[in-house]
Amino acid sequence: MPEQTYTKLFMPIKGLALSGTTLVIQVPSQYFVEQVEENWLEQLGIAVRKELGEDADLEYNVVVDMGAKGTGPLGYNMPAQHRTGKPAYPGQNGVDPFRQSNAYVGHHGNLSSQYSFENFVVADCNQLAVAAGQRICQAPGISGFNPLLIHGGVGIGKTHLIQAIGNRFKALYPNKVVIYVTLEQFFNQYVEAVRNNSTNDLSNFYMSVDMLIVDDIHFLAKKEATQEIFFNIFNRLHQNQKQIILTSDVPPRDLQDIKERLLSRFKWGVTADMHLPTFETRLAILHKKLENDGVSIPEDVLEYLASTIDTSVRELTGVLLSLIARGTLHTSEIDLNMARQVIQSVVDDVNDTPLNIETITKLVSEYYHISEDQLKEKTRKREIVIPRQVAMYLTKELTKSSLQIIGDFFGGKDHTTVLHAIRNVQKQMADNDDIRLAIDTLQRKLGGSH
Ligand code: ADP
Ligand code: MG
Repeated sequence: MPEQTYTKLFMPIKGLALSGTTLVIQVPSQYFVEQVEENWLEQLGIAVRKELGEDADLEYNVVVDMGAKGTGPLGYNMPAQHRTGKPAYPGQNGVDPFRQSNAYVGHHGNLSSQYSFENFVVADCNQLAVAAGQRICQAPGISGFNPLLIHGGVGIGKTHLIQAIGNRFKALYPNKVVIYVTLEQFFNQYVEAVRNNSTNDLSNFYMSVDMLIVDDIHFLAKKEATQEIFFNIFNRLHQNQKQIILTSDVPPRDLQDIKERLLSRFKWGVTADMHLPTFETRLAILHKKLENDGVSIPEDVLEYLASTIDTSVRELTGVLLSLIARGTLHTSEIDLNMARQVIQSVVDDVNDTPLNIETITKLVSEYYHISEDQLKEKTRKREIVIPRQVAMYLTKELTKSSLQIIGDFFGGKDHTTVLHAIRNVQKQMADNDDIRLAIDTLQRKLGGSH
């Protein structure tokens, strides 16, 4: 590895203990965990096998030293744990599956303490889901809230939130068993269990927990046998008033190829949707991440990130991490220029969109969540008029289209209407934040701002 990486990333890591085959290391912050996991896990595995023997069944825990911030919500810092080599074996009878990893889950019921309510930004886009989650922590399993089904697009914080719920619940009731599992993991376990003739063990295991959190249930589609065993587990837990929490990338009505009797159960409790956050919330999320990592980045850079990357929070935090990494590696100041470069290398649809009236219209309609046809409608509704005026303004600014062409394109308006629209946008940009942000963001996406 490059020497710089070694100095910056590996020098600060301390070995805490080597007990049996478990190596415990301590890292300065969550940032290190992510860097190591993303880029160096394989090399680490090779190095450790070299030291401990070829078939070493290595497991390592990462302990984050949070310094003055104290310990995490569990009073025990273990944001990540990994296994290389052989899979784990079932725990002995009576072993708390939360503390102990076994055939089905890793330590701490697969929950990762990096996901907490403390580092989750609550806003309109997720408020309902958060409120339901907090309610469940206080009174798990009560009817009306069981199951909790959270749905929303990719990368908007569903996994973070449900893990935070699990962690909070576990902190409140240390003796209860909370298990987090993705549908894919569950599916793999089921396939394995069928092969080993141990599907009963699998059901019994999941039927005995106090809170079951299953992520990404849309993957149940077409997996009929998995649906069947999940149906039984669901019923048992529900009967015993054990809390079930589910997430899906799509709303329940769009879940496909899942048996009706299972689908209808998903809707027994609360269904809460999550949306893409607004600019302000995206900015708050960036601040929260930095606070956690103890890194600081100039405000104009953060605003630039928050206004440019509006596709998902995952993309946003991904770019932030790359930016921090680049700043660390080059030991240079993180500034707007560097941010632009990182965004260009990470987000591919920035700045390579061809500039014409169609692509502008498409971007504007996506930005305002309306259809391109609506933009061309004959209507005076404000929620259509403003986006249309914005689209007209951008087309005039960024292309060579005449007022007449623009008017024709947007449903046969005459050129004075177009001129009026453009003037109106120019006027509003001075004192209307929403319009200014829209223009800024769209211009950046279209590559026209520099
Ligand atoms: P999903 O499960 O919906 O695909 P994730 O929970 O994996 O999304 O979220 C993606 C990333 O965005 C994670 O790093 C998560 O911590 C972060 N994130 C999403 N929403 C928020 C929020 N409201 N506050 C803080 N971080 C968030
Ligand atoms: Mg997820």
